Amino acid sequence: MASSPRLAWNRAKFLGAAQDAAAWPRPQGAEVALAGRSNVGKSSLLNALAGNSRLARVSKAPGCTRGLLFFQVSPGLTLVDLPGYGFARRSKAERDSWREGIEEYIEGRPNLRLILVVLDARLGPTELDRDLLEYLAHRQVPSLAVLGKADQLQPSRRRTHLESLGKLFPQGHPSKEHPRDLFVLSSKTGEGVVALRARLEALAGS
Ligand code: GDP
Repeated sequence: MASSPRLAWNRAKFLGAAQDAAAWPRPQGAEVALAGRSNVGKSSLLNALAGNSRLARVSKAPGCTRGLLFFQVSPGLTLVDLPGYGFARRSKAERDSWREGIEEYIEGRPNLRLILVVLDARLGPTELDRDLLEYLAHRQVPSLAVLGKADQLQPSRRRTHLESLGKLFPQGHPSKEHPRDLFVLSSKTGEGVVALRARLEALAGS
């Protein structure tokens, strides 16, 4: 199945960016949102999924993107890039408004099916990532962890490192309804991209 995608990923298009819910596109099909700390590689992941290096601007100024970015893969599937978190130079007021913004989306979006929590495979979940994972588990929002930048792992330590990271995920909030799957991925080499596309295609139109 993974080798014959149903969706024309390379036709994914940018629908728009908006912070206020009133300006978000009308819900259509299934939505999958990408969350993660700024600079973790969410834009690169969107580009890798679409096979289009220009789809999402790969920002050189971390933390500069405001609002939610909506990308339509097909009428049945939209990907949403949530604002990145974790920039110390932001004020508390800004961090609070970031949190309210994503909570409004996560708790109110009727067609949200899955959150991809994008992590750096080298570091594993940081404190802010853990806060987000806890919050998603608490709200029973299906989530899936993407261990990105896997090309940066040292080959000799890769297996044991990934095994130990994998053990982190079932702990805390194991739940049959919301399994916390892991995808090991590199937007640079393309590792894991086809498998993740297949996983997202299974949600399209649901
Ligand atoms: P965002 O802020 O989460 O959207 O992150 P970006 O996609 O802009 O990526 C931040 C930086 O990480 C850029 O310099 C990217 O080239 C780099 N990057 C993203 N994905 C990968 C990857 O899979 N492997 C490597 N080595 N670098 C990556």
